[in-house]
Amino acid sequence: MRLLIRTAMVLSGLMLPGMSLHAAESEPITWGYEGDRGPFQWGKLGPEFSLCDKGMSQSPIDLLHSHKIGLDDIQFSYKDAPFHVINNGHTLEELEPLSETVKSRYPKHGQTVLHFEKDSTIVLDGDLYLLEQFHFHFPSEHTVDQRHYPMELHLVHHNARHEAAVVAVFMEEGKHNPFFETFLAHAPANVGEVVDDHEHFVNPNDLLPKGRSYYRYFGSYTTPPCHEGVIWAVMHEPIQVSAEQIQRFRSLLGHDNVRPTQPLHKRFVLESH
Ligand SMILES: [Zn+2]
Repeated sequence: MRLLIRTAMVLSGLMLPGMSLHAAESEPITWGYEGDRGPFQWGKLGPEFSLCDKGMSQSPIDLLHSHKIGLDDIQFSYKDAPFHVINNGHTLEELEPLSETVKSRYPKHGQTVLHFEKDSTIVLDGDLYLLEQFHFHFPSEHTVDQRHYPMELHLVHHNARHEAAVVAVFMEEGKHNPFFETFLAHAPANVGEVVDDHEHFVNPNDLLPKGRSYYRYFGSYTTPPCHEGVIWAVMHEPIQVSAEQIQRFRSLLGHDNVRPTQPLHKRFVLESH
């Protein structure tokens, strides 16, 4: 296995972890998951984060009160791609070559697997979305009847109009997960580090549950600046990872990366049969 580890400085144009550009002064705002930079303060850290406080369609939410209807299945067409993980400070993710537009609003999510080199797509509501990256949260951000799962996977996509669709998959404690093991083996521990492995190919299809029913609602990114207009599809069926894998992910993060659930306001949660 040949790994290429380098710092994010090489990726000129990528912002430092946990920062968003301040529109007026081009000064980054640091945010986090605890204390005076934590989720309850995000909206007060700067005017460009105001949606975090004032938004009416924020994520995550509790998924208890849903309306069952005949939603079309999501058509997943994920392809193999080389492993490319960046640690941007707030979780571990995998990426693709970022267009300037996508990069500028790219949520900082820690260790992120970038998945841009192949045409990995989904069709949701008759619209084609390209997979950009995926990353993990500990514990789950969405809840079902106020209950968290140990972890949650976010597969982040965008369509030709740069609208975002996130497929979320709950992760419960159970069997050892080989895909997640590959991820843990590659995940850079230090913020700013990138791990490239052109000999290991991964297919995010391996992270999807067998059952394809899901909850759907309109929400936001769960990190500042909390942009809205994001279509969320949260799969009903969780996937399994071992207790030991969950612990290793938590140690790698060094902290929880969860935003508390947000008010539903006038929104409806739809649920496929
Ligand atoms: Zn996320």
